[in-house]
Amino acid sequence: MTAPILKQNRHPLQKLLCAIALSVWAASAAHAAPLVEPTLRLKADASGNVGRVALTLDACGGQTDTRILSALVENRIPATIFVTGIWLKRNAAAVEIMRAHPELFELENHGGRHIPAVDTPQKIYGIRSAGSPEAVRAEVESGAAALARTGEPAPKWFRGATAEYSPSAIAMIRKLGFKIAGFSINGDGGSLLGAKETARRIGAAKDGDVIIAHINQPTHAAGEGVVQGLLALKAKGLTFVRLDDADGVGNDGTTD
Ligand SMILES: [Zn+2]
Repeated sequence: MTAPILKQNRHPLQKLLCAIALSVWAASAAHAAPLVEPTLRLKADASGNVGRVALTLDACGGQTDTRILSALVENRIPATIFVTGIWLKRNAAAVEIMRAHPELFELENHGGRHIPAVDTPQKIYGIRSAGSPEAVRAEVESGAAALARTGEPAPKWFRGATAEYSPSAIAMIRKLGFKIAGFSINGDGGSLLGAKETARRIGAAKDGDVIIAHINQPTHAAGEGVVQGLLALKAKGLTFVRLDDADGVGNDGTTD
């Protein structure tokens, strides 16, 4: 499109190439809808108790925060763990502990390679997006396949890396049979918050909240705050449920 056109009548091939370039541009412009970060909440607790919250922990890559894992086992706190194929490969001992407590841990799909489920090329928090519908599909399906290889039940929930999505990717993931796990409380700010602020955010959870935090950063201060926050909620009498056990309602077409 930038080459000078000398002749009045362009060569048919040149016209065709221009037409293709225009249609590609139009298609990508149509797809460049703003990204969404969906919310997920539980339906209100009908039992008359203090309330129910869902703890979701991402295992993106890296290692296992045994401070959190031990606290969950010792205090009988159920959690939904979103694991990637990368994390499963490197953390066999932690997977073993989770599988030994099926009443506590539900393992769900965080993708094969921790690539954001965004079907246009862009960077989200510095991470390159999948960039195409095919790549989103590969990320979702390879995550499910990695979980299947551990002998876990087939995952029903998906959460993409960075928890941001293009609306068209959401529609595709729903078609693949997964609900998409948003959240209502960002507990640890991507595991980058201090212990005190993390404990404050998690400790402030109320009936219906879905908390997100990370279980793959053993050296970060946030992990200590996750444990403190959870123990505070337990002391208040809140019940912890897994996404499997509750009716989670999300926006942006993520669960309906
Ligand atoms: Zn992640």
